[in-house]
Amino acid sequence: MIQLENISKVFTVGDEKVHALRNVDLTIDTGEYVAIMGPSGSGKSTMLNMIGLLDRPDSGVYSLEGQDMTALDDSRQAELRRHKIGFIFQFFHLVPRMTAAENIELPMMLAGLDTRERKKRMERSVEAFGLADRAGHRPDQLSGGQRQRVAIARATIMQPHILLADEPTGNLDRVSGGEVINILEELNSQNITLLMVTHDPELGRRARRQIHMVDGQIETDNSSPTG
Ligand code: ADP
Ligand code: MG
Repeated sequence: MIQLENISKVFTVGDEKVHALRNVDLTIDTGEYVAIMGPSGSGKSTMLNMIGLLDRPDSGVYSLEGQDMTALDDSRQAELRRHKIGFIFQFFHLVPRMTAAENIELPMMLAGLDTRERKKRMERSVEAFGLADRAGHRPDQLSGGQRQRVAIARATIMQPHILLADEPTGNLDRVSGGEVINILEELNSQNITLLMVTHDPELGRRARRQIHMVDGQIETDNSSPTG
């Protein structure tokens, strides 16, 4: 379970203060599928980064599976992030000089898995995401859809409980975007909590729950009756 209580985040640029999150309260249960929507600059990425332990709030409490994240130091947070959280970005964030297989292997290296386990998981993963014949290619030799599938493979290789996707289809054509969404929804059906930021209302409606953010706050939060 993800629990945000009274979370605020202010960025200071020069002498201007930007209130990216204002007293946000949010609870998300294990296995939920949540779409986060709202205009550009409304705090969607800031909230996702906070949940993904890529950033810290200025005030408030964030607890994950009952544990207060705000009390942990950076190295403990990194450790939890590696094991519990997978992140997927609009622009993929793959390591350009590494092959698809090496990108997928990276989180397992960081987590200290042995060579045999890494190889086993990597082979299973490239197969599952339809990348078997692309494993030796670098990101610049892959299509957008393939790059995002590598990114999903990398994000899930440590078997996280939570997947955070920040506009995962924002840089893809309709067909590749649809494939990526199908993969994410399939992972969610295996009880991985899925939080997805999207600009696309049609995609947003596919989620069982939609959160609309405006100006650093959650304006509406509703569960779709049809699911
Ligand atoms: P969204 O993802 O909804 O477009 P963001 O969470 O990226 O919005 O940003 C929310 C607000 O915080 C925006 O006004 C943005 O300019 C500001 N902001 C986000 N990250 C930073 C940062 N690292 N430094 C300064 N301002 C930031
Ligand atoms: Mg954003």
